[in-house]
This record gives sequence, structure tokens and C-alpha cells, in this order.
Amino acid sequence: MNPFLHEKYSRQILFAGIGEPGQQRLLASGAVIVGCGAIGAAAANQLTRAGVGKLRIIDRDFVEPSNLQRQTLFDEADALAALPKAIAAERKLRSINSSVSVEGIVADLSPSNAADLLAQFDLILDGTDNFETRFLINDFSVQNGKPWIYAAAVASYGLTMTIRPGATPCLACLMETQQQGLEQTCDTIGVLGPIVNLIASLEVAEALKLLAGRTEALHDRLISCDIWSGHFQSVRIPRNPHCRVCARREFAYLHGEAQPHITMCGRDSVQIHDRTRVLDLALLRNRLSPTVSDVRHNEFLLRFRVPPYEMTVFSDGRAILKGTKDPAVARSLYARYIGA
Ligand SMILES: [Zn+2]
Repeated sequence: MNPFLHEKYSRQILFAGIGEPGQQRLLASGAVIVGCGAIGAAAANQLTRAGVGKLRIIDRDFVEPSNLQRQTLFDEADALAALPKAIAAERKLRSINSSVSVEGIVADLSPSNAADLLAQFDLILDGTDNFETRFLINDFSVQNGKPWIYAAAVASYGLTMTIRPGATPCLACLMETQQQGLEQTCDTIGVLGPIVNLIASLEVAEALKLLAGRTEALHDRLISCDIWSGHFQSVRIPRNPHCRVCARREFAYLHGEAQPHITMCGRDSVQIHDRTRVLDLALLRNRLSPTVSDVRHNEFLLRFRVPPYEMTVFSDGRAILKGTKDPAVARSLYARYIGA
């Protein structure tokens, strides 16, 4: 290693778990972060400083003022310019560590682009805000034997688990047997900066072990924390021998079968139909009322405004979004307000 790089990463090299061989492997490795919200931005920041050789950031959103409370990579100028997060992140990360090859991609990860965007990297990190994308990553990971790290946070609570196909349970082992879905989202019940940065730190520590070739140090546990109550948990999750993904190898999300069906309806509207979901509209109304405007509700539908959009949600999980023709925008709004 040249003296300049040795000095730059000297404190990490001194750490016994990494050492010079570990740092060499980090420098030669590549990671892709899907979603650059609070967790993705914090993970990108740490991986860039740690000297991962190649980093790709994929994100479909723009920086907004409400992001700045917790998304540590962005500033007021980014929000004023409504810069795509992937672009703002790429600029900031390059100024943090010019030795790292950073690439921001403005895109919505989908079954059609997943292989192109993910295949060439050693590790995939979860920075997404919805389970549709997480299950797509999980399908791709298991199909291709590529590790990924699940990470999520809402309010003061977060959790993370490292998934290594063949060695650990997968996300479907965890979620599809326990019927637990994260109904609430950061856009409806809020989120604190400390929990996203804590979860991102746990995620990056696992990433450093994997990329430095120290797999024996991985804890192979689901870690969950609530920084408000002080409740921390570390649980070993069993593999599901009948798992849809890692046992039966049915990659429904990768094949697009489980994607919400999106169709154009009218001149400036999009319809999303999530076939897997039945909604309790009264509960949804109570949850959304503090954060959206003009909420109207009857036994068939719930309608509300998120300017410039109007969203109408039906109890069978269907939603119509007025004000956009863009399926990616519709999918993003659905994930934010209805859940995924
Ligand atoms: Zn599984």
C-alpha cells in the first residue's frame, strides 16, 4: 500500500480486526447502496471514509427540507436546488474521499434493472424505505449468492440483519413467516436522527467485516433497538426450511409478479394495485390525519391531499394518484403514505 493511503487509513489499519490485509481488501472491494435516505446517506458517508474502493448509490428521490434533520449527507443548498439525492450524495462523497470511485444513479430499482445495477458489486446495502424493494433485493441476493444487509428505522426504533445466501436466513425467512409488516412509515409517524445513524453504523460495521474478508466476525443476528425506551435486542433467527425464496427459490419479486400493478388512468393519474394488501381505512385515516390535508373518508375509500398530489385509497389496497403520470412517483408516494 502506498504511504499516502497507509496514512489516510492508519487508525483503521491499527484496529486488529481490519489490519493492513483487511484494508487492502476494502480498497479492492465494491458496495452498492439502494436508497439514499437517512440510513443510506449515513452508510455511504462511513463507507466512503473507510476507503471502500467503489461505491454506487441508487436513489429515486430529490432532497427536500424535511430530509435535513437526519440525512447527514445533504445540506440546505441541495434542498433549495431539489437535487436528486444520488447526485447530491455523489458530489459530497467525492469531496470527502477522492480515492473512492463514487457513482450516483437516479433510478428506481426494479426487476428490469436490478441485475444491471447490482451484479458487479460484492455487497448490497439496504437504504430503502419500502418492503417491495427489499424483497426485490432479497430475491436478487439469493438467486445470485450475493450478500446484502437489511436495515430499517421508523420513529425511535430500528433493526438490521445481514443476509448471506446459504449461510444465514433471508428476509423472507424473517418476514413471511411472522406476518410482520412495517405498516407505519417515517412520513406518517416520523423518525429521529439518532436511530437512523445508529442502524446505519451497525449496518456498516457488518459491511466492513464482509468486505475486509472477516466473515468469522459477523454476528449473524437480527439486531433491534429503540433509542427512546433504551430497549436493545439481539436475536438469532432460524432459517425457514420451506422459505419461498431461499428454500423453494421462487423469485416472485425479481420476476415482477409481486410488484404492485401500475396503470395509467386518465390524463394525469396513475393507479396502483397492491394485490397482497387489505387496508383498514379508518386506521389509515387516523394515522395519516396529522400529516396530510383534506382527508375524506367513507366506507369505500379514503381521499387526501399531499400537494401537488391527491391520493385516493381503496380497502382492497388499490390507490389512484392524481397529479402524476410517473409510475416511480406513484410507487414512491404509495410506499410513503400507505406502506409497503
Ligand atoms: Zn429464506
